[in-house]
Amino acid sequence: MTKTTHITDVAVIGAGPVGLFAVFECGMLRLKCHVIDALDVIGGQCSALYPEKPIYDIPAHPDISAAQLVDNLQQQAEPFDPTYHLGQRVENLTLCKNGRFDIETSAGTSINAGTVIIAAGVGAFGPNRPPLDGIENYEDKSVFYFIKNREQFRGKRVVIAGGGDSAIDWTLSLSEIAEHVSLVHRRPKFRAAPENVAKVHALAESGTIDLVVPYQLHQLTGQNGQLESVVVSTLAGEEKSIHADVLLPFYGLAMNLGPIADWGLHLENKHITVDQATCSTSTPGIYAIGDIATYPSKLKLILTGFAEAAHTAHAIRAQLFPDEVFHFEYSTTQGLPATAQG
Ligand code: FAD
Repeated sequence: MTKTTHITDVAVIGAGPVGLFAVFECGMLRLKCHVIDALDVIGGQCSALYPEKPIYDIPAHPDISAAQLVDNLQQQAEPFDPTYHLGQRVENLTLCKNGRFDIETSAGTSINAGTVIIAAGVGAFGPNRPPLDGIENYEDKSVFYFIKNREQFRGKRVVIAGGGDSAIDWTLSLSEIAEHVSLVHRRPKFRAAPENVAKVHALAESGTIDLVVPYQLHQLTGQNGQLESVVVSTLAGEEKSIHADVLLPFYGLAMNLGPIADWGLHLENKHITVDQATCSTSTPGIYAIGDIATYPSKLKLILTGFAEAAHTAHAIRAQLFPDEVFHFEYSTTQGLPATAQG
């Protein structure tokens, strides 16, 4: 059977918030996009790590949940009919003789694109797993690294482990609906927003939650993937057992650029260096935006990535259509391009 190769103007690697907005910006400039993501849902970190959390610094949205932001971005891109290839990682990116690019994914999808936008965030990300014997038997049954729906923990005995924002925020959130929450951390000091840390201490003082410090995870007990207790220990080896239905270890993300590191792009501390004006990388025709792109004074924020998406779309239009006289227009003047109106 002959393999189909999808032909497109732009291949967007990463369907996080920034990749999704790039589809809209490219669409406004009549550039067709194919979007590939290793996760089986769109939304990147917003969907995988904090879908129910409110975001406060998206312009014109005083308060919007991460999941709602992703829904809105998808809707905004929808008129341009992007093709999504989800649940597959881009493995190979090759520059063709004619200056276009061939992309191959882990699922065998093949895309030939005029240009490539890498919006791959922190790379193909995965959680840092605690080194506990047999933890894999409990994963996705009673040990979870990401929370997609907090309701699944209603009435449960929850053990949360970690000392950063995720551990603190989910302790506050789940203390409202869980039967009981224990927060385990190896030292008394937390690396999280001070006002939220203060709220956690207040909950511990009132007996609403248990603060289990300075302890670290030591052992899991249970059957058939269902946790019964989490054993924790101090550095001195003093152990105690906490009855638990669920363990949520929040030890941060393992940042793994994966195959992107092998594409010959100029990198700095696992980020792709770009020219801030266009977000072009060291390889002409490949652009990088969002968390993965770096330049002096870069702010890793969604709104920064949105602006980068606009700059990049304009640079790509100029690259793919060098002879065209391009008139910049506001969206209010231009409306949605005819192609997007069906
Ligand atoms: P990501 O969201 O990381 O998406 C990148 C996507 O690329 C991923 O889905 C990944 O699977 C995919 N990918 C990577 N490599 C490949 C590959 N080889 N093939 C296929 N797919 C690949 N920012 C704010 O502005 N305001 C906030 O309030 C805020 N709060 C946050 C709270 C938390 C708990 C966290 C973790 C982050 C927060 N952020 C916030 C940061 C924000 O989420 C990121 O800046 C944003 O997600 C970056 O978007 P992105 O599209 O660049 O990358």
